[in-house]
Amino acid sequence: MNLILFGPPGAGKGTQAALIVDKYKLAHLSTGDLLRHEMSSSTELGNEITEIINSGKLVPNHHVLKMIKIFIENNKKSNGFLFDGFPRNQDQANLLDKLLANLDLKITSVILLEVDKESLRERILSRSQKEGRADDNEETLIKRLEVYFSETEPVIAHYSNKGLVKSIDGVGEINDINQRINSILDLV
Ligand code: AMP
Repeated sequence: MNLILFGPPGAGKGTQAALIVDKYKLAHLSTGDLLRHEMSSSTELGNEITEIINSGKLVPNHHVLKMIKIFIENNKKSNGFLFDGFPRNQDQANLLDKLLANLDLKITSVILLEVDKESLRERILSRSQKEGRADDNEETLIKRLEVYFSETEPVIAHYSNKGLVKSIDGVGEINDINQRINSILDLV
C-alpha cells in the first residue's frame, strides 16, 4: 500500500500519519519533518531554507527531490510508503510517479483531509503554543494556505483523474478521524 496524505496546513496530517504508519507498517516520509530536522541541526541546507520555511513558501524542488530519492531508495523493501506533505506541486508529483515506477510501484490511495479555514486557524495557533514552530503564526498561515490552494491543491486532480482520492472529514476527535481513514484503507 503506497499512500499520499494531502490536506492544508493544520489539517492534522502529522497526527494521522503517525497512526496510519503504525497500523499498516509503512515507511513514513514527512518532508516537513525532514526539513525541520535540517534546520534544527543547522546544516548548510537547514540554514539556507530557514527563512523560506518561516515565510510559508515552498522550499525549492531540487532540495526536496534529493531527499525523496534517498528516502525511497533506502526504504524500497518496506511494506509500503506514506507520503505526508509531499508532493506539493506538479513537478514533485511527476518525479514521485517516476521513482515509484522504477521500482514497479504506484500510488494506491490518496487521502485528502478536509478541514474548514477557521478550524485550521485555531489548530495552528494552539500548536504554536505547544510546539513553538516559527511558521505557526497567523501571518505565515495565510501564506501557507495561499501556497496550498495555488500550488498543492491542483495536484490532487492528478490523482482524482485516476480515481485514487478519498476525501475525509478532518474535523473532530483524533480517533474518530482515524477510524474514518481506517475504514477506507481496510477496503484497499
Ligand atoms: P509541513 O510540516 O508539511 O507543513 O511543512 C512545513 C514547511 O516545510 C512548508 O510550509 C514548506 O516551507 C516546507 N515543505 C514541506 N514539504 C515540502 C515540499 N514537499 N516541498 C517544498 N517545501 C516543503
